[in-house]
Amino acid sequence: MASEMVRAAVQTGPLAYEIREFPRPRIGDDDGLLRVEACGVCGSDVEQYRGHLVSEGMFPLIPGHEPLGVIEEVGDRAAERWGVAPGDRVAVEILRPCRACDFCLTGRYMSCPNRDGAYGMTPLSREPGLWGGFAEYLYLHPWAILHKIDPTLAPELAVMFNPLGAGVRWAAQLGEVGLGDTVLILGPGQRGLTSVIAARACGAGTIIVTGLGKDEKKLALAREFGADHTVNVEEEDVVKRVTEITGGAMADVVLELTPIAEQPIADAIEAVRHSGRIVFAGLKGGKRIEIVTDRLINKGVTIKGAYGVNAESYIEAIRIIESGRFPLERMHSAKFELADTEAAIQDLGDGQAIHVCVCPDGETDSPAPPTGTAQQREREVVDVG
Ligand SMILES: [Zn+2]
Ligand SMILES: [Zn+2]
Repeated sequence: MASEMVRAAVQTGPLAYEIREFPRPRIGDDDGLLRVEACGVCGSDVEQYRGHLVSEGMFPLIPGHEPLGVIEEVGDRAAERWGVAPGDRVAVEILRPCRACDFCLTGRYMSCPNRDGAYGMTPLSREPGLWGGFAEYLYLHPWAILHKIDPTLAPELAVMFNPLGAGVRWAAQLGEVGLGDTVLILGPGQRGLTSVIAARACGAGTIIVTGLGKDEKKLALAREFGADHTVNVEEEDVVKRVTEITGGAMADVVLELTPIAEQPIADAIEAVRHSGRIVFAGLKGGKRIEIVTDRLINKGVTIKGAYGVNAESYIEAIRIIESGRFPLERMHSAKFELADTEAAIQDLGDGQAIHVCVCPDGETDSPAPPTGTAQQREREVVDVG
């Protein structure tokens, strides 16, 4: 029987973390408890660590919104509803939607106005406090969304359901990448790379990925995952390269995934073909950016904003991981134990790591300690899932 106390990494404010213990919650008919095996660290964890994204009043809270684990305890009604039993491995979605409003009933549960908050962003003051994946156990609220996943996979690979879910959402669902399409992916971060995988899985013809000089390793990985061309935007003009590569036909689909930068917005509009599709997923920190709307009209472009990831994308992502078709382990940079959660977030924030996770059961590989100040650290792609 597990201990009566649960250890968790608590963020008490900007740049402030501590390990605390919580009483193990009592589980009823409709809820459950997850023993966390791994929780992915993402760009929004870095932003939250730095005090952006979450208002001061939300602290203290347990961050971590990409949890993977094993059902430790589950109520009878919940077990039936979720189709799980103790011992099953599941991925947990970030949102807890109501399942009853018009949005939920029409498959747009990410917009649910009644939702019970989000994992990793719910304050401790809300009972039972265990609302984040950087903890030994996660409380499974009755509205939690779970997806079963192969228990034989290494936890650091299985937990990639989250970034790969984003790639599937952006490339396959929103970008509607089809057989033979030319896909331009602006930004080679974790989710740029998973977008390459998703585009490949969709049968894309030509995949082009852009990055900066310092992204050399990420661009090499993009090629390993199936990108045909990579472009260093500090040395080459993106639109000119796409024109050359496609013989002037340009890209059927453009995924704009870069954080903060403005130039990729203009590049996306110029590099997309007539009646092509652009997916905007790179947040720009609220900046106002000038674009020539006439170009969009005259090219008949479809633009989509990428808010969140849905069940359909997570399910497809899990199937891709389980298939073993892509060498996802090449994307894994480091796993950290619970006590080193802060170091894990700093490691991703440093900008060189691609995929980082926290494994509360203590099984880790030995990552190099993070270097540089918070100010020097590069920003990673910011997301909402
Ligand atoms: Zn709802
Ligand atoms: Zn995330």
